[in-house]
Amino acid sequence: RLLNTLIELKGAIRVFVRVRPVHVSNVNDFDNNREVLQYPDNGSIVLSDLQSSDVPEKSWQFDAVFDPNSTQSEVAGEVEPLVQSVVDGYNACVFAYGQTGSGKTYTMDGPSHDRGIYYRATDMLFNAIDKRLDDFRDAGKETLSVTVKVSVLEIYQERVRDLLSVQDDANAESALEAGEGDKDRNAPAGGSRTPGKKPKQASPFSLDIMHHPKSGYVYVQGAKEEVATSAAEVHEILERGKQHRVVGVTNMNEHSSRSHMILLVSVISKVLESDSTTIKHQSRSKLQLIDLAGSERASSVENGGQRLRETCHINKSLSALGDVMQALQNNGSRHIPFRNSKLTSLLRDSLGGKAKTLMMIQVSPMKLHMWETMRTLEFAQRVG
Ligand code: ADP
Ligand code: MG
Repeated sequence: RLLNTLIELKGAIRVFVRVRPVHVSNVNDFDNNREVLQYPDNGSIVLSDLQSSDVPEKSWQFDAVFDPNSTQSEVAGEVEPLVQSVVDGYNACVFAYGQTGSGKTYTMDGPSHDRGIYYRATDMLFNAIDKRLDDFRDAGKETLSVTVKVSVLEIYQERVRDLLSVQDDANAESALEAGEGDKDRNAPAGGSRTPGKKPKQASPFSLDIMHHPKSGYVYVQGAKEEVATSAAEVHEILERGKQHRVVGVTNMNEHSSRSHMILLVSVISKVLESDSTTIKHQSRSKLQLIDLAGSERASSVENGGQRLRETCHINKSLSALGDVMQALQNNGSRHIPFRNSKLTSLLRDSLGGKAKTLMMIQVSPMKLHMWETMRTLEFAQRVG
Protein backbone atom coordinates (compact mmCIF):
# COMPACT_ATOMS: atom_id res chain seq x y z
CA ARG A 1 0.00 0.00 0.00
CA LEU A 2 2.83 2.34 0.86
CA LEU A 3 4.36 1.60 -2.52
CA ASN A 4 1.07 2.42 -4.23
CA THR A 5 0.87 5.69 -2.35
CA LEU A 6 4.40 6.51 -3.44
CA ILE A 7 3.62 5.72 -7.06
CA GLU A 8 0.46 7.78 -6.85
CA LEU A 9 2.33 10.75 -5.42
CA LYS A 10 5.12 10.42 -7.95
CA GLY A 11 2.62 10.20 -10.76
CA ALA A 12 0.59 13.14 -9.51
CA ILE A 13 3.12 15.91 -10.16
CA ARG A 14 4.85 15.94 -13.50
CA VAL A 15 7.43 18.51 -14.49
CA PHE A 16 8.07 19.38 -18.13
CA VAL A 17 10.41 21.93 -19.62
CA ARG A 18 9.65 23.91 -22.75
CA VAL A 19 12.45 25.87 -24.38
CA ARG A 20 11.30 28.80 -26.49
CA PRO A 21 12.99 29.66 -29.81
CA VAL A 22 15.89 32.13 -29.81
CA HIS A 23 14.69 35.69 -29.84
CA VAL A 24 17.36 38.18 -30.78
CA SER A 25 16.86 41.72 -29.56
CA ASN A 26 20.39 42.94 -30.25
CA VAL A 27 21.80 41.40 -33.46
CA ASN A 28 25.31 42.62 -32.72
CA ASP A 29 25.63 40.93 -29.36
CA PHE A 30 26.89 37.64 -30.80
CA ASP A 31 28.00 36.32 -27.46
CA ASN A 32 24.69 36.75 -25.62
CA ASN A 33 22.74 35.44 -28.62
CA ARG A 34 24.48 32.07 -28.43
CA GLU A 35 22.34 29.02 -27.71
CA VAL A 36 23.66 27.35 -24.57
CA LEU A 37 21.11 24.53 -24.06
CA GLN A 38 21.26 21.01 -25.51
CA TYR A 39 18.81 18.12 -25.43
CA PRO A 40 20.87 14.92 -25.61
CA ASP A 41 18.01 12.52 -24.90
CA ASN A 42 14.41 12.44 -23.85
CA GLY A 43 13.86 14.33 -20.62
CA SER A 44 17.36 15.68 -20.20
CA ILE A 45 18.58 19.21 -20.68
CA VAL A 46 22.19 20.32 -20.61
CA LEU A 47 23.68 23.75 -20.14
CA SER A 48 27.06 24.03 -21.82
CA ASP A 49 28.96 26.00 -24.40
CA LEU A 50 32.40 24.79 -25.42
CA GLN A 51 33.20 28.18 -26.95
CA SER A 52 32.68 30.22 -23.80
CA SER A 53 34.52 29.55 -20.59
CA ASP A 54 31.97 31.54 -18.55
CA VAL A 55 29.15 29.07 -19.16
CA PRO A 56 29.03 26.42 -16.43
CA GLU A 57 28.41 22.79 -17.37
CA LYS A 58 25.25 21.48 -15.82
CA SER A 59 22.54 18.97 -16.59
CA TRP A 60 19.02 18.25 -15.34
CA GLN A 61 16.48 15.50 -15.83
CA PHE A 62 12.71 16.03 -16.14
CA ASP A 63 9.64 14.07 -17.16
CA ALA A 64 10.00 15.55 -20.64
CA VAL A 65 11.78 18.40 -22.39
CA PHE A 66 10.24 20.21 -25.35
CA ASP A 67 12.92 21.77 -27.54
CA PRO A 68 12.42 25.07 -29.41
CA ASN A 69 10.89 23.24 -32.40
CA SER A 70 8.04 21.70 -30.44
CA THR A 71 4.51 22.62 -31.41
CA GLN A 72 1.55 23.89 -29.43
CA SER A 73 -0.27 20.66 -30.16
CA GLU A 74 2.59 18.47 -28.87
CA VAL A 75 2.78 20.49 -25.66
CA ALA A 76 -0.98 20.57 -25.13
CA GLY A 77 -1.13 16.81 -25.73
CA GLU A 78 0.44 16.36 -22.29
CA VAL A 79 -2.65 17.92 -20.74
CA GLU A 80 -5.00 15.25 -22.09
CA PRO A 81 -4.70 12.80 -19.16
CA LEU A 82 -5.40 15.66 -16.73
CA VAL A 83 -8.51 16.67 -18.65
CA GLN A 84 -9.74 13.06 -18.62
CA SER A 85 -9.12 12.91 -14.91
CA VAL A 86 -11.26 16.04 -14.37
CA VAL A 87 -14.11 14.47 -16.35
CA ASP A 88 -13.70 11.40 -14.09
CA GLY A 89 -14.24 13.60 -11.02
CA TYR A 90 -10.74 14.60 -9.87
CA ASN A 91 -9.08 18.01 -9.71
CA ALA A 92 -6.14 18.98 -11.89
CA CYS A 93 -3.98 22.00 -12.52
CA VAL A 94 -1.46 23.13 -15.10
CA PHE A 95 1.08 25.87 -14.42
CA ALA A 96 3.36 27.81 -16.71
CA TYR A 97 6.42 28.91 -14.72
CA GLY A 98 9.40 30.96 -15.88
CA GLN A 99 10.97 34.37 -16.26
CA THR A 100 9.17 37.12 -18.18
CA GLY A 101 9.62 36.55 -21.92
CA SER A 102 10.22 32.79 -21.58
CA GLY A 103 6.94 31.88 -23.31
CA LYS A 104 4.43 31.26 -20.48
CA THR A 105 1.63 33.19 -22.17
CA TYR A 106 2.55 31.65 -25.53
CA THR A 107 2.12 28.17 -24.03
CA MET A 108 -1.07 28.89 -22.06
CA ASP A 109 -2.85 31.41 -24.27
CA GLY A 110 -0.93 31.45 -27.55
CA PRO A 111 -1.34 33.62 -30.63
CA SER A 112 -4.78 33.62 -32.30
CA HIS A 113 -3.56 31.45 -35.21
CA ASP A 114 -1.94 28.86 -32.96
CA ARG A 115 -3.75 28.65 -29.66
CA GLY A 116 -2.28 27.30 -26.45
CA ILE A 117 -3.43 25.18 -23.53
CA TYR A 118 -6.37 27.38 -22.43
CA TYR A 119 -8.07 26.70 -25.75
CA ARG A 120 -6.86 23.20 -26.52
CA ALA A 121 -7.58 21.85 -23.03
CA THR A 122 -11.14 23.16 -23.12
CA ASP A 123 -11.65 21.57 -26.56
CA MET A 124 -10.40 18.28 -25.09
CA LEU A 125 -12.67 18.71 -22.08
CA PHE A 126 -15.85 18.99 -24.12
CA ASN A 127 -14.79 16.06 -26.33
CA ALA A 128 -14.21 13.93 -23.23
CA ILE A 129 -17.57 14.99 -21.76
CA ASP A 130 -19.37 14.17 -25.04
CA LYS A 131 -17.75 10.76 -25.08
CA ARG A 132 -18.83 10.06 -21.51
CA LEU A 133 -22.39 11.19 -22.30
CA ASP A 134 -22.40 8.84 -25.32
CA ASP A 135 -21.16 5.94 -23.19
CA PHE A 136 -24.00 6.46 -20.72
CA ARG A 137 -26.55 6.77 -23.50
CA ASP A 138 -25.30 3.54 -25.10
CA ALA A 139 -25.37 1.64 -21.82
CA GLY A 140 -28.90 2.94 -21.20
CA LYS A 141 -28.92 2.07 -17.50
CA GLU A 142 -28.43 5.51 -16.00
CA THR A 143 -28.63 9.10 -17.12
CA LEU A 144 -25.66 11.42 -16.89
CA SER A 145 -25.98 15.17 -16.72
CA VAL A 146 -22.91 17.40 -16.87
CA THR A 147 -22.65 21.14 -16.23
CA VAL A 148 -19.53 23.15 -16.93
CA LYS A 149 -18.89 26.44 -15.13
CA VAL A 150 -16.10 28.91 -15.78
CA SER A 151 -14.36 31.54 -13.68
CA VAL A 152 -11.49 33.77 -14.72
CA LEU A 153 -9.37 34.99 -11.82
CA GLU A 154 -6.24 36.96 -11.25
CA ILE A 155 -3.97 37.20 -8.22
CA TYR A 156 -2.17 40.52 -8.05
CA GLN A 157 -0.26 41.68 -4.99
CA GLU A 158 -1.77 38.90 -2.88
CA ARG A 159 -5.32 39.88 -3.81
CA VAL A 160 -7.76 37.70 -5.71
CA ARG A 161 -9.60 39.55 -8.44
CA ASP A 162 -12.59 38.27 -10.39
CA LEU A 163 -12.01 39.10 -14.06
CA LEU A 164 -15.62 38.29 -14.95
CA SER A 165 -17.18 40.82 -12.58
CA VAL A 166 -14.68 43.62 -12.94
CA GLN A 167 -16.51 46.26 -14.91
CA ASP A 168 -15.21 49.55 -16.24
CA ASP A 169 -13.86 50.78 -12.99
CA ALA A 170 -10.61 52.16 -14.30
CA ASN A 171 -9.85 53.69 -10.93
CA ALA A 172 -9.73 50.36 -9.22
CA GLU A 173 -6.30 49.40 -10.46
CA SER A 174 -4.79 52.76 -9.61
CA ALA A 175 -6.39 52.56 -6.18
CA LEU A 176 -4.70 49.19 -5.74
CA GLU A 177 -1.39 50.51 -6.94
CA ALA A 178 -1.59 53.38 -4.51
CA GLY A 179 -1.91 50.73 -1.81
CA GLU A 180 -5.51 51.53 -0.89
CA GLY A 181 -7.85 48.81 0.26
CA ASP A 182 -4.92 46.86 1.56
CA LYS A 183 -6.36 44.52 4.11
CA ASP A 184 -3.60 41.98 3.89
CA ARG A 185 -2.14 41.47 7.34
CA ASN A 186 0.91 39.87 5.78
CA ALA A 187 1.82 42.89 3.70
CA PRO A 188 5.48 43.75 4.02
CA ALA A 189 6.20 45.88 7.03
CA GLY A 190 6.98 49.54 6.58
CA GLY A 191 4.09 50.24 4.17
CA SER A 192 2.80 53.70 4.83
CA ARG A 193 -0.74 53.66 6.09
CA THR A 194 -2.14 56.99 7.15
CA PRO A 195 -2.78 56.84 10.87
CA GLY A 196 -6.46 56.62 11.65
CA LYS A 197 -7.36 55.59 8.08
CA LYS A 198 -9.37 52.38 8.19
CA PRO A 199 -8.57 49.56 5.75
CA LYS A 200 -11.30 49.20 3.12
CA GLN A 201 -13.84 46.40 3.11
CA ALA A 202 -13.59 43.53 0.62
CA SER A 203 -14.04 44.67 -2.99
CA PRO A 204 -14.23 42.66 -6.27
CA PHE A 205 -10.47 43.20 -6.31
CA SER A 206 -9.82 41.42 -3.08
CA LEU A 207 -12.00 38.34 -2.73
CA ASP A 208 -11.69 35.80 0.03
CA ILE A 209 -10.66 32.21 -0.57
CA MET A 210 -12.82 29.81 1.42
CA HIS A 211 -12.82 26.07 1.81
CA HIS A 212 -15.57 23.73 2.83
CA PRO A 213 -14.70 22.42 6.31
CA LYS A 214 -15.70 18.80 5.50
CA SER A 215 -15.04 18.22 1.82
CA GLY A 216 -12.09 20.63 1.65
CA TYR A 217 -13.61 22.08 -1.52
CA VAL A 218 -12.06 25.50 -2.25
CA TYR A 219 -14.02 28.41 -3.70
CA VAL A 220 -13.58 32.13 -4.10
CA GLN A 221 -16.30 33.99 -2.23
CA GLY A 222 -18.39 36.05 -4.63
CA ALA A 223 -16.49 35.11 -7.78
CA LYS A 224 -18.67 34.79 -10.84
CA GLU A 225 -19.09 31.36 -12.42
CA GLU A 226 -20.56 31.30 -15.91
CA VAL A 227 -22.15 28.20 -17.39
CA ALA A 228 -20.62 27.09 -20.70
CA THR A 229 -22.24 24.52 -22.98
CA SER A 230 -19.41 24.29 -25.50
CA ALA A 231 -15.68 24.91 -25.79
CA ALA A 232 -16.44 27.98 -27.93
CA GLU A 233 -18.41 29.44 -25.03
CA VAL A 234 -15.48 28.89 -22.67
CA HIS A 235 -13.22 30.65 -25.18
CA GLU A 236 -15.64 33.60 -25.34
CA ILE A 237 -15.76 33.86 -21.53
CA LEU A 238 -11.96 33.71 -21.41
CA GLU A 239 -11.67 36.54 -23.96
CA ARG A 240 -13.92 38.69 -21.81
CA GLY A 241 -11.86 37.91 -18.71
CA LYS A 242 -8.63 38.79 -20.53
CA GLN A 243 -10.11 42.15 -21.58
CA HIS A 244 -10.97 43.00 -18.00
CA ARG A 245 -7.44 42.22 -17.01
CA VAL A 246 -6.33 45.26 -18.96
CA VAL A 247 -8.81 47.70 -17.39
CA GLY A 248 -6.89 50.52 -15.77
CA VAL A 249 -3.54 48.93 -16.58
CA THR A 250 -1.07 51.24 -18.27
CA ASN A 251 1.36 48.55 -19.39
CA MET A 252 -0.16 45.13 -20.02
CA ASN A 253 3.20 43.35 -20.30
CA GLU A 254 4.32 44.72 -16.99
CA HIS A 255 1.05 43.86 -15.33
CA SER A 256 0.92 40.31 -16.68
CA SER A 257 4.50 39.68 -15.63
CA ARG A 258 3.53 40.55 -12.06
CA SER A 259 0.20 38.75 -11.69
CA HIS A 260 -1.04 35.18 -11.90
CA MET A 261 -3.96 34.48 -14.23
CA ILE A 262 -6.21 31.50 -13.63
CA LEU A 263 -8.76 29.92 -15.94
CA LEU A 264 -10.91 27.78 -13.66
CA VAL A 265 -13.24 25.26 -15.28
CA SER A 266 -15.55 23.26 -13.00
CA VAL A 267 -17.30 20.09 -14.07
CA ILE A 268 -20.43 19.09 -12.17
CA SER A 269 -21.62 15.57 -12.98
CA LYS A 270 -24.83 13.94 -11.82
CA VAL A 271 -25.69 10.30 -12.40
CA LEU A 272 -29.43 9.61 -12.21
CA GLU A 273 -31.51 6.43 -12.38
CA SER A 274 -32.73 6.34 -15.96
CA ASP A 275 -36.39 6.07 -14.96
CA SER A 276 -36.38 8.69 -12.19
CA THR A 277 -34.89 11.90 -10.97
CA THR A 278 -33.09 10.24 -8.06
CA ILE A 279 -29.43 11.21 -7.98
CA LYS A 280 -27.25 8.11 -7.53
CA HIS A 281 -23.95 9.86 -7.58
CA GLN A 282 -22.63 13.35 -8.10
CA SER A 283 -19.24 14.97 -8.26
CA ARG A 284 -17.70 18.36 -8.71
CA SER A 285 -14.18 18.64 -10.01
CA LYS A 286 -12.10 21.37 -11.59
CA LEU A 287 -9.35 22.11 -14.00
CA GLN A 288 -7.20 25.15 -13.21
CA LEU A 289 -4.92 26.52 -15.90
CA ILE A 290 -2.48 29.08 -14.57
CA ASP A 291 -0.20 31.58 -16.29
CA LEU A 292 2.10 32.50 -13.40
CA ALA A 293 3.82 35.82 -12.77
CA GLY A 294 7.42 36.12 -13.99
CA SER A 295 9.87 34.27 -11.74
CA GLU A 296 12.81 36.66 -12.30
CA ARG A 297 14.64 38.35 -9.48
CA ALA A 298 14.12 42.05 -8.97
CA SER A 299 17.01 43.64 -10.82
CA SER A 300 16.75 47.01 -9.16
CA VAL A 301 14.46 49.11 -7.05
CA GLU A 302 12.72 50.80 -9.96
CA ASN A 303 9.51 52.71 -9.68
CA GLY A 304 10.00 53.57 -6.03
CA GLY A 305 8.76 51.03 -3.53
CA GLN A 306 5.98 49.80 -5.82
CA ARG A 307 8.18 47.51 -7.90
CA LEU A 308 9.88 46.06 -4.88
CA ARG A 309 6.57 45.50 -3.19
CA GLU A 310 5.22 43.62 -6.22
CA THR A 311 8.35 41.51 -6.47
CA CYS A 312 8.02 40.70 -2.80
CA HIS A 313 4.48 39.37 -3.33
CA ILE A 314 5.49 37.41 -6.45
CA ASN A 315 8.48 35.81 -4.80
CA LYS A 316 6.34 34.95 -1.82
CA SER A 317 3.69 33.15 -3.83
CA LEU A 318 6.12 31.37 -6.15
CA SER A 319 8.29 30.18 -3.31
CA ALA A 320 5.15 29.16 -1.39
CA LEU A 321 4.15 27.11 -4.45
CA GLY A 322 7.60 25.52 -4.53
CA ASP A 323 7.41 24.73 -0.82
CA VAL A 324 3.98 23.10 -1.17
CA MET A 325 5.04 20.99 -4.13
CA GLN A 326 8.24 19.95 -2.40
CA ALA A 327 6.32 19.00 0.75
CA LEU A 328 3.94 16.91 -1.37
CA GLN A 329 6.81 15.11 -3.11
CA ASN A 330 8.48 14.45 0.19
CA ASN A 331 6.12 11.80 1.52
CA GLY A 332 7.40 12.23 5.05
CA SER A 333 5.85 15.70 5.25
CA ARG A 334 2.60 15.77 7.10
CA HIS A 335 2.26 19.52 7.11
CA ILE A 336 1.67 21.06 3.70
CA PRO A 337 2.05 24.86 3.97
CA PHE A 338 -0.94 25.86 1.81
CA ARG A 339 -1.74 28.94 3.87
CA ASN A 340 1.46 30.79 3.01
CA SER A 341 0.07 32.52 -0.09
CA LYS A 342 -3.16 33.26 -1.94
CA LEU A 343 -2.02 31.07 -4.82
CA THR A 344 -1.44 27.98 -2.68
CA SER A 345 -4.64 28.62 -0.65
CA LEU A 346 -6.59 28.66 -3.90
CA LEU A 347 -4.99 25.40 -4.99
CA ARG A 348 -5.16 23.47 -1.74
CA ASP A 349 -7.75 21.01 -3.08
CA SER A 350 -5.98 20.68 -6.42
CA LEU A 351 -2.44 19.82 -5.34
CA GLY A 352 -1.69 16.44 -3.81
CA GLY A 353 -4.11 13.64 -2.95
CA LYS A 354 -5.82 12.36 -6.09
CA ALA A 355 -5.27 15.63 -7.95
CA LYS A 356 -2.95 15.75 -10.96
CA THR A 357 -0.47 18.55 -11.52
CA LEU A 358 1.54 19.50 -14.57
CA MET A 359 4.27 22.10 -14.22
CA MET A 360 5.32 23.53 -17.57
CA ILE A 361 8.69 25.13 -16.94
CA GLN A 362 9.55 27.75 -19.54
CA VAL A 363 13.13 28.77 -20.38
CA SER A 364 15.08 30.64 -23.03
CA PRO A 365 18.02 28.88 -24.74
CA MET A 366 20.11 32.07 -24.99
CA LYS A 367 23.27 32.82 -23.10
CA LEU A 368 21.77 36.21 -22.23
CA HIS A 369 19.24 34.43 -19.98
CA MET A 370 21.57 31.73 -18.67
CA TRP A 371 21.49 32.67 -14.98
CA GLU A 372 17.70 32.97 -14.83
CA THR A 373 17.47 29.70 -16.76
CA MET A 374 19.66 27.99 -14.15
CA ARG A 375 17.56 29.41 -11.33
CA THR A 376 14.38 28.24 -13.07
CA LEU A 377 15.69 24.71 -13.66
CA GLU A 378 16.90 24.46 -10.06
CA PHE A 379 13.40 25.42 -8.90
CA ALA A 380 11.91 22.84 -11.26
CA GLN A 381 14.28 20.14 -9.96
CA ARG A 382 13.22 20.94 -6.41
CA VAL A 383 9.51 20.49 -7.10
CA GLY A 384 9.82 17.57 -9.54
P1 ADP B 1 5.97 35.33 -20.94
O1 ADP B 1 4.47 35.17 -20.90
O2 ADP B 1 6.68 34.21 -20.24
O3 ADP B 1 6.43 36.66 -20.46
P2 ADP B 1 5.56 35.30 -23.79
O4 ADP B 1 4.71 34.09 -23.95
O5 ADP B 1 4.86 36.61 -23.84
O6 ADP B 1 6.44 35.22 -22.47
O7 ADP B 1 6.70 35.22 -24.90
C1 ADP B 1 7.54 36.30 -25.22
C2 ADP B 1 7.62 36.44 -26.74
O8 ADP B 1 8.18 35.28 -27.32
C3 ADP B 1 6.27 36.61 -27.38
O9 ADP B 1 6.39 37.50 -28.46
C4 ADP B 1 5.94 35.22 -27.88
O10 ADP B 1 5.07 35.24 -28.99
C5 ADP B 1 7.29 34.65 -28.24
N1 ADP B 1 7.34 33.19 -28.02
C6 ADP B 1 7.38 32.56 -26.85
N2 ADP B 1 7.40 31.22 -26.99
C7 ADP B 1 7.35 31.00 -28.31
C8 ADP B 1 7.35 29.81 -29.12
N3 ADP B 1 7.39 28.57 -28.57
N4 ADP B 1 7.31 29.96 -30.46
C9 ADP B 1 7.27 31.18 -31.02
N5 ADP B 1 7.27 32.33 -30.32
C10 ADP B 1 7.32 32.25 -28.98
MG1 MG C 1 3.05 36.51 -20.08
